[in-house]
Amino acid sequence: MKVLIRYGDDTAQCDVQESASIASKIRIHVYPNGRIEIEAPLGKSVNEIQNAAQKRARWVFSHLKVASSARALSLAREYVSGEGHFYLGRRYKLTVSPAPMAQSSVKLTRGRLEVAVYSCDPAVVRRRLKNWYHERAQDYLSRRLSHWVATLPFLKVEPPLKLISMSTQWGSCSPQGTIHLNPALVKAPRQCIDYVIVHEVCHLVEHNHSRRFYHLLDRYMPDWRSAKAELDGLAEMLLME
Ligand SMILES: [Zn+2]
Repeated sequence: MKVLIRYGDDTAQCDVQESASIASKIRIHVYPNGRIEIEAPLGKSVNEIQNAAQKRARWVFSHLKVASSARALSLAREYVSGEGHFYLGRRYKLTVSPAPMAQSSVKLTRGRLEVAVYSCDPAVVRRRLKNWYHERAQDYLSRRLSHWVATLPFLKVEPPLKLISMSTQWGSCSPQGTIHLNPALVKAPRQCIDYVIVHEVCHLVEHNHSRRFYHLLDRYMPDWRSAKAELDGLAEMLLME
């Protein structure tokens, strides 16, 4: 069983474990990997568990923050063979090999992200990979945007899409109706990408986070909360360069 708790604009998903112990209290643990576990005595209703967890939201979110900055410190990218890199939510093992300038390439094959470049210098590899992610993002994100434009009845024309690297944001919608997406989004799972796109295109109709905005989002993407919670949990890692 899972329950969602909220704090400000943030949502977090908690795994509920029923404990057979005689203790009658609901306990919450936040693990270093960001997992939240609720230990609930047998017989508690989902509502009781949800309410008890929600009351401790402030405590949970402060612990999540500490856990995620600790992870960020240990996750800094080095751009060397063996390191994990993400694409559409899957983790690939980086392999770096030298190649003549004209044969430089990036390929995804059986769990590996193979980069062939003229120099294995991490700065060179980083630049090459960043370009590759940008190209992939241009292709995948624009295809998903077209898909949603064709699917959502309130959109008549496809809005212009612009990729912009941002360190803390996945997307935005300008007052002129341009959708901005972070190219690093292509590292996230597909359902998270769709959530960001649908969120931003809903802003074409409702420019702020009003109740009408959330009605629109709920209507066309009823499970957006779990996609958002998943993306929030991955943000630190995916936005890390
Ligand atoms: Zn928004």
